[in-house]
Amino acid sequence: MTETALVLFSGGQDSATCLAWALDRFDRVETIGFDYGQRHRVELACRAAFRDRLVAEFPAWGARLGEDHTLALDALGALSETAMTRQTEIAFAADGLPNTFVPGRNLLFFTFAAALAYRRGLRHIVGGMCETDYSGYPDCRDDTIKALQVALNLGMDRRFVLHTPLMWIDKAATWRLAHDLGGDVLVDLLREDTHTCYLGERSRRHPWGYGCGTCPACDLRAKGWERFVAA
Ligand code: ZN
Repeated sequence: MTETALVLFSGGQDSATCLAWALDRFDRVETIGFDYGQRHRVELACRAAFRDRLVAEFPAWGARLGEDHTLALDALGALSETAMTRQTEIAFAADGLPNTFVPGRNLLFFTFAAALAYRRGLRHIVGGMCETDYSGYPDCRDDTIKALQVALNLGMDRRFVLHTPLMWIDKAATWRLAHDLGGDVLVDLLREDTHTCYLGERSRRHPWGYGCGTCPACDLRAKGWERFVAA
């Protein structure tokens, strides 16, 4: 049986690692990205470059990599009054959530992804959600994803399987997973051609890649890298 998958691919480190994970496992893999006016739109620009280099460096994966889809979700940008889409400082609100949180974002992403997977006949849906260092995003929780899988399968009368390979590992282990999958070549590709910084900063290159170096996303990525290379 040919196993087919759709990867939620933003152009960031986590989803790029998930793409490699999926290509290692499934016979045919397509990707989907969402444009909702996020401030770190440079992530979206990284997507094509990362896919191209992945195909060039890993021909066996390239043979399995199918179409890329991008969906404009203007409504999400319009709904969210957050630092992700407005020029405000990233800070932590009283409820402990960073104001980068776009409410329900991953619920919407998975729902749109499932609708596309339905149309494309894809069974597995893969996302980089992680409960280990998730900044308190409730839609990254394992229970949320499991509940959503049930809801989507009931609502669309399909047997989708939602995968979150990073759910229980930290950022150091995410670098390690990439190394296990594709060695130094994949790790270098992730450093050079993915983007995680909330501010969209790409003029400064650190050992772990590009970014401002101080926002919560850069901080997580940098600390994970330090633990990965120290191990
Ligand atoms: Zn940053």
